[in-house]
Amino acid sequence: MRLRHGPVAHAWRSLLYRLPKVDLHRHLEGSLRLSTLVEIARDHQIHLGLDADLEALLRFTASEPASFQRFLSRFQLLRLFYASQEAIRRMAYEAVVDAALDRVRYLELRFNPAALAQARGFHLEEVIEWVLDSVAQAQQRFNIQVRLILTIVRGEDPKIAWQIARLAVAHRPHGIVALDLAGDELCESATELVPVFQWAREQGLFLTVHAGEIGPSANIRHAILVMGAHRIGHGIQAIHDSDVLELIRERNVPLEICPTSNLQTGAVASFRHHPLPDLYRLGLKVTLNTDDPSVSDTKLTDEYLFAMAGMGLHWQDLLRILENAAEAAFLSPEERRILIQRLRQEIQAIGRKKAKEEVEGAKSGQVAPFSPFLPSGC
Ligand SMILES: [Zn+2]
Repeated sequence: MRLRHGPVAHAWRSLLYRLPKVDLHRHLEGSLRLSTLVEIARDHQIHLGLDADLEALLRFTASEPASFQRFLSRFQLLRLFYASQEAIRRMAYEAVVDAALDRVRYLELRFNPAALAQARGFHLEEVIEWVLDSVAQAQQRFNIQVRLILTIVRGEDPKIAWQIARLAVAHRPHGIVALDLAGDELCESATELVPVFQWAREQGLFLTVHAGEIGPSANIRHAILVMGAHRIGHGIQAIHDSDVLELIRERNVPLEICPTSNLQTGAVASFRHHPLPDLYRLGLKVTLNTDDPSVSDTKLTDEYLFAMAGMGLHWQDLLRILENAAEAAFLSPEERRILIQRLRQEIQAIGRKKAKEEVEGAKSGQVAPFSPFLPSGC
């Protein structure tokens, strides 16, 4: 991506990398390392066809035409790789490690247990336990706090959706905090799944619903008013509907925005046309997230860079958006307070360190390329 290159982008990127970050919208299935997929293919004799280029099959490139269906098709391919308990455990572990290495301090990782289980006939519950176990191990070894969200896709068999919801509730003490509705919002209805989500909410789970990503703003209204969503995945089509904007603002519903994904699915034409800055200036609780870092070839650091270099947001705006994410975390009020405090302390420490470096750079006659800690640094 062009915005990642050049000396100024490089300087900003290194600073944004050092920010402690929060990712509320990241799919496990979209976070798999290419190198791991190559090894799984080798170990499990997964044949993709002669001369198949796994990277080209998995990753969206800048030259590929944006398309929601092409984006979703990646996840059909990935089902081939959910080949064993070891493979699934490894994928979950590495997804958390990769987030931690990008200095994501709090991650909500979502996955569709039906997709992981059905590929090779595993039980839903064992797949959930493998992921929970691996995520717990990664959390012990790295500086990251993780909560899990179970995804149900639109059009799923309601019997399976009920099983997933019941398992989510049963595993709440082990870190499952929410249900997510994903899938094709243009072609599949959510109607049959509404009772499942309503029941899960009554049991104390949080709800997040992919809506108004590529589909109409009416899907956002339905998610909030009928399904009872606490947060909306994407929700960017709200920009075209003043009533839905008002509903989101009135109820303070956070939007989980994933800019690179929005470009690749064709939901927006370019970063310059992305509604994130407008939604932010309207006072909505917007957050920045990755969606599918491996498929999209991005990191959360990059998404912050694109919001700045591609959409014109300033450093202080990014800090506000980061704090929005912490405030929107599916945690208890006390856990949220601790998270926010921890992030603030770490950001202050970066500020002090950076100021010291700038002073020392000035003393030695070096001219700093930018001054991000000034109020309007960009
Ligand atoms: Zn998503």
